Parts: sequence; C-alpha cells; structure tokens
Amino acid sequence: MAQIAAVVSGARAAYNQGKTRSVEFRIHQLKELERMITEKKEAFLLALKKDLHKNEFAVEIFEIAGILNDITEAVNKLPEWTEPEFVSKNMMTLMDTVYIHRESLGVVLIIGAWNYPLALIIQPLVGAIAAGNAVVLKPSEVSGNTAKLLGKLLPQYLDKQLYPVINGGVEETTELLKQQFDHIFFTGSTNIGRIVMEAAAKHLTPVTLELGGKSPCYIDGNCNLEVACRRIAWGRFSNCGQTCIAPDYILCDKSIQDELVKKISTTVVEFYGADPQKSPDYGRIVNQRHFKRLMSLLEGAKVAYGGQNNEEDLYIAPTIVTDVDPNSKIMQEEIFGPLLPIVTVASADEAIGFINKRDKPLALYIFSRDKKLTKKMIAETSSGGVTVNDCMIHYTVDTLPFGGVGKSGFGAYHGKFSFETFTHRRACVLKSLAFEKMNSIRYAPATDAKQKRTLWLMSKRGGCVTM
Ligand code: NAD
Repeated sequence: MAQIAAVVSGARAAYNQGKTRSVEFRIHQLKELERMITEKKEAFLLALKKDLHKNEFAVEIFEIAGILNDITEAVNKLPEWTEPEFVSKNMMTLMDTVYIHRESLGVVLIIGAWNYPLALIIQPLVGAIAAGNAVVLKPSEVSGNTAKLLGKLLPQYLDKQLYPVINGGVEETTELLKQQFDHIFFTGSTNIGRIVMEAAAKHLTPVTLELGGKSPCYIDGNCNLEVACRRIAWGRFSNCGQTCIAPDYILCDKSIQDELVKKISTTVVEFYGADPQKSPDYGRIVNQRHFKRLMSLLEGAKVAYGGQNNEEDLYIAPTIVTDVDPNSKIMQEEIFGPLLPIVTVASADEAIGFINKRDKPLALYIFSRDKKLTKKMIAETSSGGVTVNDCMIHYTVDTLPFGGVGKSGFGAYHGKFSFETFTHRRACVLKSLAFEKMNSIRYAPATDAKQKRTLWLMSKRGGCVTM
C-alpha cells in the first residue's frame, strides 16, 4: 500500500516539473495513446472478448470510436482551447487585459467501471491529458483482462511517471482515495459514488461522478412501433444490457403492451437468431455475482419472452417482463442486464409523474410522432440526457456534454467538455500601474461623489468590450 502513495507522489513530482504545460507535449502523448489503440487493437479485442464476450463490431463501435474521435478533436483543437479567452469588461477595467486562462488542475484520479472497460478509462484520460494534468488510472478489476492489459500497455506508450495505472479492487481503491488529488473522475454505481465523494471531501477535492440509475423509455401509441422496438432492443440488449444509458424499463399504455412484446421478440430473433446463446453478437453477464443478482430480479415476475439462462456460461437471454408492479424488485434498482420490464401507464402525464417521483435518471427516451408531447416531456422531466425516437445516440455526439443530474451524477465529458472538466478557468486581470488618478476614487476616505463614480465604473455599459 505504501507503493500506492509512492506512485501518486511520483506523479505529482513529475507534474511539478512542468512538462505537461507544453501543448506539444500533450499532443504527443495523445498521439501515443492513439498509436497504442491502433497497434494493440488485437490484444484489446481478445481481452474484451474474455471479459464480456464482445466482438470486434461492438468494440469498434462502443469502445474505440469515441476514444479516437476525442483524440482527433483534442489534437486538432488544443492550441485553440488553450488560448486565453478574452471577455467583456466593466468600465473599471476598460484599459486592462481581461481574460480566462485555462490551466491544468494537477494530479487527477480516474476510476473506471467494468462494462465498457476501455472507453470508460481512456476517454476521460484524453481530456485529462489534453488539459495538462498528471493522471492516476484505476481500471475496474471486474473486467480483469482489460485492466491488466491497460496496466501493461499504457506505460509502454505514455510517460510512465505522469500517467501511472494502479490495478486492484476495493482495498487498493480505498488506499488511493486516501491520497490527495486535485480532481477525481469516477464512473460507477451511485453507492460507490457516495464513498468516493466522502473520501474526496476530506481533501476538498472536486469530483465528477458518472453514475447510473434507471433510465425510462416512454412509448407513445402514436409512433412507428416496429422502428421503436428495433431501436429499443438494440439499446437494451447490446452488451447484454450492461450499459449505463440502456433503456431500463418501458412506460406505455396497456393497449400496446402485447404488440411491443411481439415486435421486440421478433427483433431479438432478427438480431441474434433463435438461440442468442449461439450468437457471436450477444454478450455475457460479467460474473456470477451479477448473474445471480439479475436472476433474483426475475423472481415472481411475469416473463413474457426469454428467461432462458445458463449460469456456467453466464448467459441470460434477452427477456421481457410484462405488467410490472412499480413496487416490485425489478423496479427498485438499476437492472444492468438483458431484462426489460414493461410498466403500463394510462397517459403521458402519468408517465411524467412516474418519472418525476423517482431519482433523476441518466437518460430518458421518448418514442413519439407528436412533437408537442415530446417537448412537454422534456420540459416537465429531468435527466442527464435525452434521445427522442432512438436510444443512447446522444452519447455519440461529442458536442453534447455527457453526464448525469441528481443521483445519476454530476459533471460531464466528451469532446471539449472533457477538456473543460479537467481544467481550471483562471480569472486574469492584467493592469498597468498608470491611471492612478482614476483608480483613486475607490480608496478611502469615502465620499458620496467617489461612491457614485466607483459604482458607475463598476457597471457594465455599452455591451461587450474586449481587448
Ligand atoms: P462500481 O461502483 O461497483 O465500481 C466502479 C469502480 O469503483 C471500480 O473501479 C471499483 O474497483 C471501484 N470500487 C468498488 N467498490 C469500491 C469501494 N468500496 N470503495 C472504493 N472503490 C470501489 O460500478 P460498476 O459495477 O463497475 O459499474 C456499474 C455501475 O456504473 C452502474 O450503476 C452503471 O450505470 C454505472 N456506469 C455509469 C456510466 C456513466 O458513464 N455514467 C458508465 C458505465 C457504468
């Protein structure tokens, strides 16, 4: 454990040398990261196959594409992002240089989750490197093969001291959290998020919490149900349902429930064949603990489709559960597996009430042709992100901030937002020593005239004045 403290202080010592101040240095590290992903793709494919039965298509689409896009964006835009941002001024600072200087935070800690074990570590890392920080990485031990590979490869491509990897479980993470960091970026469950935030509070370290929760999916009868069901099946059953922004449950009118079951099950056969266990495109539950947890969520539930399982193979078929009681077990926690409950509601207003009574979700999905209804649902609910008439797509748009709200987390990343997350916006006013007479009006002894003139100077007149 003394080793963990030594690694963190080593990263700080390297950071204090000032190497990461140079934009060229950061760009070089980002290009090395890109080189690692492309040169070692086969090794990552193998590790992800072992961890989660992911195939190349899934790894390329869900893990690598976002990383490479973020690297390209950061490499191209970093010189622009790090430029001083000149801002509008008040009269008092009219003759001064006033700008925001974006500076690195220092040594940051990134803790990843296991479901997208490559993307959830490397994508925040891109932002942290771009912003000029030293970064300690803690991949999830649950996806052990990918974690080990990251521990082996990252030091071969990146500066070893500035970007160390600590592998391990609760014990190692607990020790890591005792150290002083300048920011902690955590992806994982709400419960562990609380532990991380508590540990961070001891050092007054700011945190970004990328958490989960139950993301609802409302289906309006007035929509193309066939298309909706295909998109929902993709969102729910990709990566065997182990996706933080997967639609967790459906809310719909009872009159369309049977049709949804029929259409989603037809889609499942189209995607994965009659026996998804044999499909190279269908994933596996990450471990036995989660397998047992998921099976227990089905106790007493009305399985309308699927339900087949095999513990040895960690296989659970795409499963639909109908007429679900909102108080039942499956509705009490994030499912994080290939089970899709349908809860019936009498109206869109009831759906809104249902959503608002629960913790703010990471994502909300609305399927409807009715634009007015869509707008109303967005206006009257809250969630980290929303996609209308599809699932999960907002995650792929790097000009949108990706993150939660309330219990689904706070802070955001992707694209420029990652850079901003790991950056301090420093307020800078550069004055000259001239114009002392004008400045004197704010000094004691106070007079009414001085007060009036000072207040006038402090006010912002005539819109933006930048220099
Ligand atoms: P988790 O909270 O169990 O683990 C996340 C990390 O915390 C791991 O690296 C783990 O080693 C560490 N950890 C576990 N227990 C700890 C403890 N007691 N003290 C300190 N550290 C500890 O989460 P998970 O099971 O890896 O991931 C699933 C959860 O993550 C789901 O809720 C899912 O929605 C969420 N998630 C969110 C996002 C997002 O981007 N918002 C992405 C993926 C997953």
